[in-house]
Amino acid sequence: MAAKTAEFPYRARPGRLGDLLRTGQKSYSFEFFPPKTAAGERTLWSAIRRIEAFSPSFVSVTYGAGGSSRDRTVEVTKRIAAETTLRPVAHLTAVGHSIAELRHIIGQYADAGIRDVLALRGDPPGDPKGEWVPHPDGLRHAAELVSLTRELGDFTVGVAAFPERHPRSSDWDGDIRHFVAKCRAGADYAITQMFFRVEDYLRLRDKVEAAGCDTPIIPEIMPATDVRQIRRFAELSDASFPDELARRLDAARDDPAEGHRIGVDHATAMADRLLAEGAPGLHYITLNRSTATAEIHRNLGLAPARQPAAAHH
Ligand code: FAD
Repeated sequence: MAAKTAEFPYRARPGRLGDLLRTGQKSYSFEFFPPKTAAGERTLWSAIRRIEAFSPSFVSVTYGAGGSSRDRTVEVTKRIAAETTLRPVAHLTAVGHSIAELRHIIGQYADAGIRDVLALRGDPPGDPKGEWVPHPDGLRHAAELVSLTRELGDFTVGVAAFPERHPRSSDWDGDIRHFVAKCRAGADYAITQMFFRVEDYLRLRDKVEAAGCDTPIIPEIMPATDVRQIRRFAELSDASFPDELARRLDAARDDPAEGHRIGVDHATAMADRLLAEGAPGLHYITLNRSTATAEIHRNLGLAPARQPAAAHH
């Protein structure tokens, strides 16, 4: 495995995330979404508490397409800041918001002591693949949200990156140009869309470097443990799903434990290679469950091995 470390916890949290990334230390982070139900809330918090033991560099909370899920993003993010030792990164999108509303949300984060925002354009509500129509008093591109967030305070700002190109971009050159514009607007780092082939990440990184941009791009790790679910996600995000992995997962369709093992092994191998290739860290999608991502993190030697359960007499 590429990145063994002898001491735990391996990361100090104080200080700005941007500064930590610039020192060349690896960043390990976990992504959650705001739950809809009380049961979902309990699942989320038990996952957050388990992940907290790993002392990750940060955890992030996604921003919903609209309505109450957005308020829940703000609530969960603030609660992480208030009640845990974790550094929360708030995802924020420009969808359906005027600039005044965006200022208000960013102000709420600042008031809660949250200094980390992942600035995204977002997708058209309803049909994520539909045409993007900006709010009449809002922003058109993520780069503008990066600038706005930077203007409003001492924030560390992350942005999205697309190893297989943004699905709506017709050419690589334009996509890279727009990505570099987000970095120039003040992004400290980027996190990728999910992907399942290391080569896609390396190609993006090479293209960004060739464009003279050295913003760290953290690869997103999505454990493909459930073939139906992962196909749905991959379709929504236009991520290519390798045939061989699909075949193996299909064969394990009626054996969830085997599907889990295949997904965890594939993600571990990918993560290991990405770190060996110099990726600045890993950003795990948890889907609010810590089991698969915790296993991958342990497999990489980045977290203490699970303690065997005490023997009962
Ligand atoms: P942009 O950087 O604005 O790019 C969008 C498109 O516009 C691209 O095709 C780009 O090439 C083009 N473009 C950019 N600038 C210009 C310009 N000046 N002129 C012309 N074209 C331009 N969505 C959510 O709703 N909630 C979330 O919490 C969320 N989290 C995410 C986390 C990660 C790590 C990633 C990778 C994506 C996430 N998304 C989320 C999805 C994201 O909002 C969509 O993928 C969206 O379509 C693109 O957002 P962006 O920030 O990359 O937009």
